[in-house]
Amino acid sequence: MAAERDVTGGGQLGRMFVHAAQRMGYRTVVLDPDAASPAAMAADHAIAGAYGDAEALAALARECDAITTEFENVPAASLRTLAASRPVAPAADAVAVCQHRALEKRAFADAGVACVPHARIESAADLDAVDPALLPGILKTSRLGYDGKGQVAVATLHALPAAWQRLGGVPCVLERRLALRAELSVIVARGADGRCVHLPVQQNLHRDGILAVTQVPAPGVAPEVAERAVADAMRVAARLGYVGVLCVEFFVLDDGSLVANEMAPRPHNSGHYSIDACDVSQFELQVRTLAGLPLVAPRLHSPAVMLNLLGDLWFDPAGAGPRIPDWDGVLALPGARLHLYGKAEPRPGRKMGHLTVTAADAATARRIALQAGERLGLAPF
Ligand code: ADP
Ligand code: MG
Repeated sequence: MAAERDVTGGGQLGRMFVHAAQRMGYRTVVLDPDAASPAAMAADHAIAGAYGDAEALAALARECDAITTEFENVPAASLRTLAASRPVAPAADAVAVCQHRALEKRAFADAGVACVPHARIESAADLDAVDPALLPGILKTSRLGYDGKGQVAVATLHALPAAWQRLGGVPCVLERRLALRAELSVIVARGADGRCVHLPVQQNLHRDGILAVTQVPAPGVAPEVAERAVADAMRVAARLGYVGVLCVEFFVLDDGSLVANEMAPRPHNSGHYSIDACDVSQFELQVRTLAGLPLVAPRLHSPAVMLNLLGDLWFDPAGAGPRIPDWDGVLALPGARLHLYGKAEPRPGRKMGHLTVTAADAATARRIALQAGERLGLAPF
């Protein structure tokens, strides 16, 4: 087994990948523009450089036996460069699909997976051609959106041109705003041999476009709907010839039907609970797919609730200024596990960490997570 693996992208996903890789005996190298990024601080070695910097990429390739990414906006060209000399998973082509909402939707359709009704908005002519049935809708930039950024609500056809201008007139996708009964995500890991395993289906609650709560098992989802979501996610991975960890987000509509929303070519915020609640985490799956190790289906050994800890918690809601969240209060709760990403500067909306609560049964996990949320100042769910 080769001894060195690495990651491009130094955020919290890279940090948790590094933790998993190190536990399995690997040496890790991180490339990120910030030498003090969360992953760089955990890795055996950090290269500070832009993701497109030829010298940095060459150094990375020199030091590593295999390369993965934790960030879908690493330029696909950089992954192609690295792939010329080292195994890279996921492949640049698959990452490129996930970097572009319209290509992503086409990939869903190609895999026979229903997605949100939408239209591409790339020119003034596209604005004129929009089907009024897509309104009220959400206009989303095709590239670089995350955590609800790069999106505007559009109430009427009439409001669409101004909304597009607000987003800079860049290529966008207009989606119909759907009434959601629930949101789900499915994390699959697929090996080079085509074997594909999955984590249990997650139910996600977003606030202001940012993931707030993940519950597993999904409380509001019929087993057959969950099974369909898993089958859909696996079909997408197979169709892409995907190697690595892939997360597909789904909306469950009022009639119980499922539509795919978007996907991420990496572990996902909604899978963080797997570190504490599964025998194999999403990050270990990433290590295994990268290293060509066997893939086994992860087993959920405890029901879990994950609460995202955004930078807002570091500020008094009444405006009294900065504060430290009540860690003693949450750590006094049974089954609560705190993960902080080592980010120096809390900012509203910034992902600073997460809390996973596990318990012997789902009702207890939920009750304790609600208590934890109350102690931290999070809204109930
Ligand atoms: P991001 O890349 O920011 O995660 P998403 O497209 O997943 O962007 O949107 C974030 C959240 O906004 C979703 O999880 C969902 O709660 C809500 N949302 C997005 N698109 C729609 C839609 N077409 N209809 C209803 N809600 C939506
Ligand atoms: Mg999303």
